[in-house]
Amino acid sequence: MKIIREIEALQAAVRSYKKQQQTIGFVPTMGFLHEGHMALVKAAHMENDVVVMSIFVNPTQFGPNEDFESYPRDEARDTVRAEQNGVDILFMPSVETMYPESLTATIHAQKRVSVLDGATREGHFDGVLTVLGKLFHLVQPDNAYFGQKDAQQVAVVQGFVADYFFPLKICVVPTVREQDGLAKSSRNVYLTEQERKEAPVIHAALRKAREEVKGQDKASVLANIRAAIDQKNSYEKIVYLDMYQYPSFEPVEDWEKPIIIAICVQYSKARLIDNEIIGGA
Ligand code: AMP
Repeated sequence: MKIIREIEALQAAVRSYKKQQQTIGFVPTMGFLHEGHMALVKAAHMENDVVVMSIFVNPTQFGPNEDFESYPRDEARDTVRAEQNGVDILFMPSVETMYPESLTATIHAQKRVSVLDGATREGHFDGVLTVLGKLFHLVQPDNAYFGQKDAQQVAVVQGFVADYFFPLKICVVPTVREQDGLAKSSRNVYLTEQERKEAPVIHAALRKAREEVKGQDKASVLANIRAAIDQKNSYEKIVYLDMYQYPSFEPVEDWEKPIIIAICVQYSKARLIDNEIIGGA
């Protein structure tokens, strides 16, 4: 595995792969790697000649009161994990490398972002698209891999890639979970022992709702989820809990088309998200 930190070195490696007509699978991450990330790497391996992973905690997607500074980082462990899982290039740029100058033109997400993370994390998706635009140009992947756990991100990135004709395919990988159902997340390390014990209720409640959703009205589906989660009360608040058509994030109108139930729960230090997509996707 090659570790690359500089733009020119990455571009040279990509040029050489392209010259050999090797296909590139790209896995963008913020590091503190877990099995969720590794599922993306595995999928990338199966469908491409080489796998490029980036680890970059992108400051522009964090709000001023969010956890950019305290986001968990462990470069040494990540390097071992990436290598063990067969990553070919691990790109770990500094903030100065990715943002050497203030931007001449900015990217502003305007569709699929008026709800959920788009509504509660101001500017978050602008930052996500900004860094992905840069990374897609650098890595020139044939396929880029994203987790369903961040389903709104998937929808926004798919729209962005289509709008600007990025010549790549977005591949979506199902959410990898702990044995008790909790979605794997770098932020799970922030949970206290008690919170960790109770957090699987999030997924359990969504699963149950998935089975009951047909024939129910939206309000009662959401009320049932809330009631189940309220039985475990170590969380601070439910930041959002809602249902939309997927991937448009428009209000639910057609129960025959894909619907997402999405939730965000704030614990003392961890902000956890999860979702279920019902019918397709
Ligand atoms: P992050 O490092 O949290 O920004 O995540 C990098 C990529 O891994 C994103 O596409 C996430 O959706 C994906 N990912 C994170 N957690 C999981 C998980 N538990 N299962 C599948 N994909 C995941």
